[in-house]
Amino acid sequence: MAGKKVLIIYAHQEPKSMNGSLKNTAVDILSKQGCSVTVSDLYAMQFKATTTRNDITGNLCNPQHFNYGVETREAFRHGSLCKDVVEEQKKVQEADLVIFQFPLYWFSMPAIMKGWLDRVLIQGFAHDFPQCYEAGLLKGKLALLSFTTGGTEEMFSKEGDSGDVKYLLWPIQHGMMHFCGFKILSPQINFAPEYVTESRRKEMLTSWAQRLESIWNEKPITCTPPWYFQ
Ligand SMILES: Cc1cc2nc3c(=O)[nH]c(=O)nc-3n(C[C@H](O)[C@H](O)[C@H](O)COP(=O)(O)OP(=O)(O)OC[C@H]3O[C@@H](n4cnc5c(N)ncnc54)[C@H](O)[C@@H]3O)c2cc1C
Repeated sequence: MAGKKVLIIYAHQEPKSMNGSLKNTAVDILSKQGCSVTVSDLYAMQFKATTTRNDITGNLCNPQHFNYGVETREAFRHGSLCKDVVEEQKKVQEADLVIFQFPLYWFSMPAIMKGWLDRVLIQGFAHDFPQCYEAGLLKGKLALLSFTTGGTEEMFSKEGDSGDVKYLLWPIQHGMMHFCGFKILSPQINFAPEYVTESRRKEMLTSWAQRLESIWNEKPITCTPPWYFQ
């Protein structure tokens, strides 16, 4: 789909990792389609994960009692957010599809990626009241979680020790992405790449590449509680 814009938010320290290879596959396949692909390589950028006063460059609304949500909302309105956040917001604004590529850390995303969400998807830019969920300010965009795990697929089944993987996707896909208006594409989950054979890992990469070939024809998943918890 020539002309489409894709942003990959990538969180892995090691370029030779499975996550690095999955990211490279996406860049390769989507670029060949004529998409414009931008990668935010969070560790390489040394992206700051913490929400601090330094994120606001101008005067604070209430220096006596710092409230990050209020101050960043007002800084966004007045154009006084710090440069790295503004740059990431511009990338999000331009993207048709945002892919989050990461290893599962404690049933969630690595802190550096959570910090990206905390600092970039702020009120006024990504959501507001009542502009959330279907009316979220990023509506019209797609989001896709592509991640690897340490645990096997059986462990992440309903009967497995870790429980259905859908449960841990609920806060990210619904509470974060869908809240901001994104439509959600099915997650790309590669279970336990460290513990499978080299040829199985190659299959994982091929399967991701094949999926990406027709990604623009995919229908988003339903982001309602019954879909997750049925
Ligand atoms: C703090 C922390 C918390 C964690 N929490 C959880 C958790 O809650 N649940 C859970 O299940 N797991 C958890 N894990 C485990 C983690 O999710 C896995 O270690 C991670 O997903 C593995 O992906 P990787 O990219 O880091 O693998 P890597 O070890 O980098 O890669 C796996 C293998 O793939 C090979 N490879 C890379 N590219 C290619 C290629 N092109 N072709 C073939 N082979 C290739 C590499 O050489 C390597 O042998 C946690 C880990 C940490 C550090």
